[in-house]
Amino acid sequence: MSAALLAGPPAAGALLDEARTRAAQLPRRPELHVIRLGEDPASVSYVALKEKKALEVGLGGVVHALPETTTQAELLTLIERLNADPAVSGLLVQLPLPTGIDSSRVLNAVSPDKDVDGFHPVNVGRLWTGAPALPPCTPAGVIRLLDFYGVPLSGQRAVIVGRSNIVGKPLAALLLARDATVTIAHSRTRELAALTRQADVLIAAAGRPHFITPEMVRPGAVVVDVGISRVGTSAAGRARLAGDVHPDVAQVADALTPVPGGVGPMTVAQLMLNTVLAAERLQAGEVPQELADVPLP
Ligand code: NAP
Repeated sequence: MSAALLAGPPAAGALLDEARTRAAQLPRRPELHVIRLGEDPASVSYVALKEKKALEVGLGGVVHALPETTTQAELLTLIERLNADPAVSGLLVQLPLPTGIDSSRVLNAVSPDKDVDGFHPVNVGRLWTGAPALPPCTPAGVIRLLDFYGVPLSGQRAVIVGRSNIVGKPLAALLLARDATVTIAHSRTRELAALTRQADVLIAAAGRPHFITPEMVRPGAVVVDVGISRVGTSAAGRARLAGDVHPDVAQVADALTPVPGGVGPMTVAQLMLNTVLAAERLQAGEVPQELADVPLP
């Protein structure tokens, strides 16, 4: 028996449709602003993809492509300006930043209400306390993918391999909010296979190609492969990519996300929805200036 493939593109398509429909209902077009420093080829291509998807769903926006020599002070000044600009709904700074720039200082300078990457500590706190947050895109995209394919989460035992701030930890918060029983494993976890074999839903986010083998998976489990590692170059010169999950897991699992074409498309689609969510909240909070000037009783 071979696992059902939980392909990303149809689920991402549904997410993009939702973003497009909700954006069209707003009084003003949401704008996604992306700040990129330098010409790192991976960053250039990620940002180009975000720009393309934003156009596809009818969002406005600007890519602020700055030279690698931009100082931290100049970057913070631009973020401050975009934070204050009411036309800007979503703002993100493409990582990694050049050495010499304090990434956490920069990310913390983005207004939490425009932080469409969901990395700001205020959004992290909102996520864990159940307040309306802008959730990080990859974990939120994983939940959307599971929902799209009707995978139940309530009462299910979920095991996440990986505890990063951008994937493992926020995914744990989102799964808990959906009433799953969650365990997070990491590089110091003992008896990892015994733990992963207990999972109804197993999520691999370790960045280790093919390291989840069939013996680590409970027959009938749903397996989500977040990992993407470059494992070589094809004859045509294209990057060969591998997930964290060994292809033979398809013989054991009930359902499995492919790599590429699984979680990846969900991440950028969720970014579009986050921009619309931010715009909805910001535009709902707007009051005419004459009313804003009236002192509160
Ligand atoms: P990361 O920051 O490097 O974190 C990796 C996590 O995996 C760490 O918590 C680490 O444990 C754990 N780990 C590493 N080796 C392990 C092992 N042998 N056993 C158990 N746990 C182990 O990576 P990340 O940013 O979360 O990304 C994880 C993967 O997802 C990468 O392949 C990345 O490219 C991919 N990714 C994909 C998307 C997407 O859109 N599809 C988005 C983001 C990331 P310690 O904490 O103990 O070191």
